[in-house]
Amino acid sequence: MLLSTHMFAAVVVIATNNIMMMTAPTIIRTQMSPRQHPQMISDVKPTFFLLSGNDHPNKNSPPKDPHDTMTIRTSQNRRITNNKKDYPSPWKIPPIDSFQIQHILRHVIDWSRVPKAPIRQYNHKNNTLVTQDYDTKLDPDCWWSATRCTIPKHKDLTFLLKIHQDIEYCPNVGDFGLTFDDGPLTLEGGGAVAEPYFYQFLAKHHQQAGLFFIGSNVLNAPPEALERALSDGHTICVHTWSHVRLTTLTNEEIVAELYWTLRIIKDTMGITPKCWRPPFADVDDRVRAIAHQMGLIYCIQLDYDAQDFRLPGYHSSGEHWRTDQVDALFQEWIEAYQNGTDRHHGHIVVQHELNPNTVAMAEKWLPRLQKVFRVVSWSQCMNVSNPYWEEAFIYPTDDDDDTKRRRMTPL
Ligand SMILES: [Zn+2]
Repeated sequence: MLLSTHMFAAVVVIATNNIMMMTAPTIIRTQMSPRQHPQMISDVKPTFFLLSGNDHPNKNSPPKDPHDTMTIRTSQNRRITNNKKDYPSPWKIPPIDSFQIQHILRHVIDWSRVPKAPIRQYNHKNNTLVTQDYDTKLDPDCWWSATRCTIPKHKDLTFLLKIHQDIEYCPNVGDFGLTFDDGPLTLEGGGAVAEPYFYQFLAKHHQQAGLFFIGSNVLNAPPEALERALSDGHTICVHTWSHVRLTTLTNEEIVAELYWTLRIIKDTMGITPKCWRPPFADVDDRVRAIAHQMGLIYCIQLDYDAQDFRLPGYHSSGEHWRTDQVDALFQEWIEAYQNGTDRHHGHIVVQHELNPNTVAMAEKWLPRLQKVFRVVSWSQCMNVSNPYWEEAFIYPTDDDDDTKRRRMTPL
């Protein structure tokens, strides 16, 4: 049975007084069980200066090199400019001695609430995290890479920070939570399929997704890619500055990775995401406590991994897979739903906008998935209407009148 999965057209809504009244406070409305719906409202706001923009270095000086300046027009018709020289070098852990990072270290994070979990080691010889010394039975730090833990263990996090558990799947059976990591795909990685190529494809198929941006890619992204990503209604989230495993970093380095990604997304797109995904899904309570205090209150994990990052190409990683191996995974998911074995909950699926091969894979499977599942962005299936701290951006949820969910009839 072919179902059209989306009933809404305009997704990003500029607030009017009316809408603001209807939507404030930012509350996650859901009918989910407590297992999927812990207390989502946090008492932590990004009180650091991100929203004000006052920290922007050289904010009053004109850009010196026009080629180093990116200008986009946001959906609010505000022109936002950023100068590449204002940001750290791409693909490196940003320095921690900048005044911005020092400010956050001293005045923003309450370090008494950050667990003293050890910095994890990475074995470069066999390209794996060293988990052998970790007590996986007790799992004291809720370290995902060792145990797939998603419910924080440290009581400072749960009671003082009111942190909620990581989101790993859509609660409703038949929902396919679409997410793409590592974008926006730049000219360097994508060539002819650099963004907004794939965003145009998604728009053609009336599809919104969660996009997890790497700060270094935002720095080098074509401005129209950023504009499309936001104005087409995708949910933009943080995926760090240089894409390293955060549990292997110091507290200060974690702050720098998150800050600069938040900073460049705010400067170029005018938004401050509340959502993020750790690279390689590698997170523990220490990292969670820091991210949460920087306003990243939704840690979006996954329960289906398309493994498309293994396809040969730019920034691919791990053992290479052939196209048919990735195809088999998608086929398996479709069959599990169609034959009735996939009936526990929906899914959050990670795919990548990494290179032409991952884009081709997404293009091949999206139309087929749309025929079987209700394909949605994670924010819709989790009923998060305000994924950014700026409340002017209101996203559709299953509670909205005009986006009432339709139950899928199993084929
Ligand atoms: Zn990634």
